[in-house]
Amino acid sequence: MATIKAIEARSVHQIQSGQVITDLCSVAKELVENSLDAHATTIEVRFKDNGLDLIEVQDNGGGIAPDNYESVALKHYTSKLASYDDLSSLNTFGFRGEALSSLCALSDFQVVTAQAHQVPVATKLEFEVSGKLAKKQVCAGRKGTTASVGGIFKRLPVRRRELEKNIKREYGKVVNLLHAYACISTGVSFSARNTVGKTKNVTVFSTNGNRTTKENIANVYGAKTLSALIPLELELEFEPSHAMKRSGGEDVVNKIQVRGHISRPVFGEGRQTPDRQMFFVNTRPCALPQIAKAFNEVYKSFNVSQSPFIFADFQMDTNAYDVNVSPDKRTILLHDAGALIDSLKVSLAQMFEAADQTVPQSQV
Ligand code: ADP
Ligand code: MG
Repeated sequence: MATIKAIEARSVHQIQSGQVITDLCSVAKELVENSLDAHATTIEVRFKDNGLDLIEVQDNGGGIAPDNYESVALKHYTSKLASYDDLSSLNTFGFRGEALSSLCALSDFQVVTAQAHQVPVATKLEFEVSGKLAKKQVCAGRKGTTASVGGIFKRLPVRRRELEKNIKREYGKVVNLLHAYACISTGVSFSARNTVGKTKNVTVFSTNGNRTTKENIANVYGAKTLSALIPLELELEFEPSHAMKRSGGEDVVNKIQVRGHISRPVFGEGRQTPDRQMFFVNTRPCALPQIAKAFNEVYKSFNVSQSPFIFADFQMDTNAYDVNVSPDKRTILLHDAGALIDSLKVSLAQMFEAADQTVPQSQV
């Protein structure tokens, strides 16, 4: 029988990193969330060759304190959460302290950072594959942090080849994800640029630090898209399932507010593809496939041949869901999802019923 041995630390780190950073979307997501957690009001995302060569996120947030240079990319080092008990009161995107350490394992990763009092002096940090600080060097820079991810997945050749093969599609997904962050982030000027080959910088989209999500949507998708939307304002109330009832037996009702914007339920206001649908839980962008399905089903009963634009933020008690399901935190476990969805479908149908259903002139 073969002896059972521990896998060497370096290989474990590679394997686990590949679960935190699974694709281009996770790179962009982790970096942008770090910028938002650092209270940035300007976030610039730069791609080279659709992200294959480089994804870089520059922010004007608080920067990294010199005392933290050594630990910033070490695994499970975070400035945001000290113990599991803190999870329920968490108000940051990050808390696992895994993103930067994973990026060190999977790419050429470096950071340039400056706190306000250090400007115009910044520090460039380079790391070993393990996340240990390898080199720090003084350079010129503005307040905030620039994190650069070069040659993503270079040490996972199969995944790198897969990414190269599907880069157009993957890049499209990243841009969609960035749209979601840009639209939900009021008070933040967001921009994304891409350089492919020798072509000039192409601005993919930008927002102007608007006060409302509506203005953000107009910046990202255009005024025409905005004009086809109606406000999404639902108050969902439903009985919690047996398991969720509080001990003591008193009656409790789950209350969830849904806020956002959605296409009017008539032909001509939707789109042929469901590529403009974004969901949030307490402003955290996340994948909610069952909820997306419910929205699309109800919409279909009003407009058979098109998909709606959906921007929906589910505002609920932090005890009503769990973000700590997968390392990338895109998957959210909603307690009582079944009852929530039933209630959502009824409210949506009532809302569409009450909406203006005249077909736009251009479609007559
Ligand atoms: P987490 O976000 O879960 O804490 P990360 O690996 O993403 O873990 O980041 C590690 C730490 O590095 C953060 O807790 C934060 O202190 C610091 N950091 C990362 N990115 C930035 C940034 N853009 N601005 C300021 N600090 C940052
Ligand atoms: Mg993070």
